[in-house]
Amino acid sequence: MVKQYQMYIDGAFVPSVSNRTFAVYNPATEQILSEVPRANVDDVTRAIDAAAQAQPDWEQWPAVERGQYLHRIADGIRARAGEIAETISAEMGKTLSLATVEVNFTADYLDYMAEWARRYEGEIIQSDRRNEHILLYKKAIGVVTGILPWNFPFFLIARKAAPALVTGNTIVIKPSEESPNNAALFAEIVHQIGLPKGVFNVVTGFGNEIGEALSSNEKVGMVSFTGSQLTGQKVMAAASKHIIKVNLELGGKAPAIVLADADLDLAATAVVNSRVINSGQVCNCAERVYVQSSVKAAFLAKLVEKMQAVSYGDPLAKTDIDMGPLVNEKGLQKVQAIVENAVAQGGNLVLGGKAVEQTGYYFEPTIIDNVHNAMEIMRSEIFGPVIPVATFETLGEAIALANDCEYGLTSSIYTQNLNSAMTLISRLKFGETYVNRENFEAMQGYHAGWRKSGIGGADGKHGLEEYLQTQVVYLQFRGE
Ligand code: NAD
Repeated sequence: MVKQYQMYIDGAFVPSVSNRTFAVYNPATEQILSEVPRANVDDVTRAIDAAAQAQPDWEQWPAVERGQYLHRIADGIRARAGEIAETISAEMGKTLSLATVEVNFTADYLDYMAEWARRYEGEIIQSDRRNEHILLYKKAIGVVTGILPWNFPFFLIARKAAPALVTGNTIVIKPSEESPNNAALFAEIVHQIGLPKGVFNVVTGFGNEIGEALSSNEKVGMVSFTGSQLTGQKVMAAASKHIIKVNLELGGKAPAIVLADADLDLAATAVVNSRVINSGQVCNCAERVYVQSSVKAAFLAKLVEKMQAVSYGDPLAKTDIDMGPLVNEKGLQKVQAIVENAVAQGGNLVLGGKAVEQTGYYFEPTIIDNVHNAMEIMRSEIFGPVIPVATFETLGEAIALANDCEYGLTSSIYTQNLNSAMTLISRLKFGETYVNRENFEAMQGYHAGWRKSGIGGADGKHGLEEYLQTQVVYLQFRGE
């Protein structure tokens, strides 16, 4: 049955004023799942106006009361966890077990951010003048727009809305056109728990039609965007029209460096998990592997064994699978082209290498070695279950190869040697470095990319601060 969802604007579920809709497909079955409003610029203006109207009052509430709403949303999510997880799996193809992790993590994240209500603080600064206090307040920015990708669609709503709301901002969320259904469920929960109208809004539609309006409206104080580098540039350009703050979480091309003294089994398991989780469609997961040449053969043998064991299928038909399909046909074709290009340039196909001939957008678990940094496969995001493997001789060479990249989001290193680990940590130019473990950030950490991976970041106290601006007050009194 094809479901019908609405947008959520000013506390009401509404169609687009254009009355247009678009279809959402299941990438495992290629069947239509739902019809969703195709917003136009007027819908975006309506949502931003509602958020702007609600914001001054929302900001006046004690932060702890705003936080209580987040706790209630978290409870509402837990009560519908199964349904939400199935909705996510159906529309973007991740396994049901991963979707369930995402839903529970989202609820925990809302609880975590709610706890900041009593913890974020201003400052009192020493004055140079007698009888003067300098007070630094941390205040809400105002209206935030949150533009999302499809790969962790439900969690990313909370990653933006939770810090925004607890600090007194209001928000308009635009989910990806690939995965809007779960956002409608989020809005249903928000509505059910009675969040004041206009504080949280959802518009659904295509980025090339409404993205600019979301990024350039003068009433918006910050655009919090997660997605590709190319779209991030467009958001930044649009936001510059009214000097709107941007928070950009963009792509990654994470290196995994495996030294000769590493626990090779642990390293191979972590790299394979990293490439298989979410079918390889994760911004922070190992996108290129550098292994010290003396252990390359042993490491590659382990990689092959573990990748061969990877199972895949329709996430709603099979539960004991490691991955589902890629998100859509375009994604599948992109992965295929990158792999073919690597082989044409001299890469050696060790395993897999092609799309699976069946309904759904599946790509075989793939390993390619003999690759080097000049190849597209080592420079562009693959976003599929493909591991390219290159070698190095010295630590210095590994550092140079890893840093030779326009992205700077995450990196991982595998070694038992403290000196090697510390040398790498001090010289790698990435926002995150994982030592002897897979790439997966903690909600109390800080996820922020260097170079073209973004501006600003998310999570923890530093992520919360992104949603605040300062007001410094110079307060003079006469004194006695
Ligand atoms: P995308 O850039 O194609 O789309 C992201 C969002 O931007 C969508 O909602 C889309 O509709 C919207 N959009 C499109 N054109 C727009 C415009 N002109 N103005 C404003 N918005 C517009 O990205 P995607 O394919 O959905 O997601 C995959 C990308 O996201 C990858 O590059 C991945 O690395 C990145 N990502 C990064 C992080 C992170 O934390 N750094 C997390 C998840 C995903």
